[in-house]
Amino acid sequence: MSATADIVIIGGGANGTSTAFHLASMGAKNVRLLERRHLAAGATGKSGALVRMHYTNEHESRLAIESLKIFREFSSIVGGDCGFEAPGFLQLVPPGYEDALRRNLVRQQRLGVDTREVSRDDIRELFPNAAPTTSAPPPGSPAPGTPIRAPPRSPSRPPRSAWASRSRMAARSRGS
Ligand SMILES: Cc1cc2nc3c(=O)[nH]c(=O)nc-3n(C[C@H](O)[C@H](O)[C@H](O)COP(=O)(O)OP(=O)(O)OC[C@H]3O[C@@H](n4cnc5c(N)ncnc54)[C@H](O)[C@@H]3O)c2cc1C
Repeated sequence: MSATADIVIIGGGANGTSTAFHLASMGAKNVRLLERRHLAAGATGKSGALVRMHYTNEHESRLAIESLKIFREFSSIVGGDCGFEAPGFLQLVPPGYEDALRRNLVRQQRLGVDTREVSRDDIRELFPNAAPTTSAPPPGSPAPGTPIRAPPRSPSRPPRSAWASRSRMAARSRGS
């Protein structure tokens, strides 16, 4: 390895590797990526790997939109199969957060995110095994924000292309 570099990137997580990739794609020469442990040793390796658009601030949604374009065309842009699937994402909000959710939806739709509000009845139709209610959770229930793993797939469940996630539902109490 050369002792000098034109560009040095510190950290082999998603941001460092992406920066290195894009610099090289733009024609930068002699780019060095330095990682003190191993690639994805930090938050990247612990990530749930959700490529979701639903964020409570515009900056993150914009970043996610740009990321989604790459994940969708990963093999032609980066090369290889990254295992990306697009089952969709269902955000559950507790009563009282409807207005915040709607504000978020309007902002995301303005950015071009394919998102919409659904009712409890819609959820029951898409997830026959789920039973969203407005009542308080029983004692011992997971706190809001705890990922809920959906039950195993059954023939009655929606196809993978449905908008709702078959793998995770997130109940979040803030920001919506
Ligand atoms: C539990 C968890 C779940 C998550 N789930 C999701 C998700 O589903 N979807 C999503 O989009 N985001 C998710 N995130 C957030 C996402 O993982 C991070 O935003 C992203 O990985 C940050 O990447 P990074 O490259 O900035 O940092 P990191 O991945 O932390 O990379 C930093 C790297 O720098 C290295 N480093 C540090 N100091 C030095 C040094 N001095 N010299 C050399 N190397 C150094 C570290 O070893 C590390 O490898 C999640 C995060 C966590 C923790």
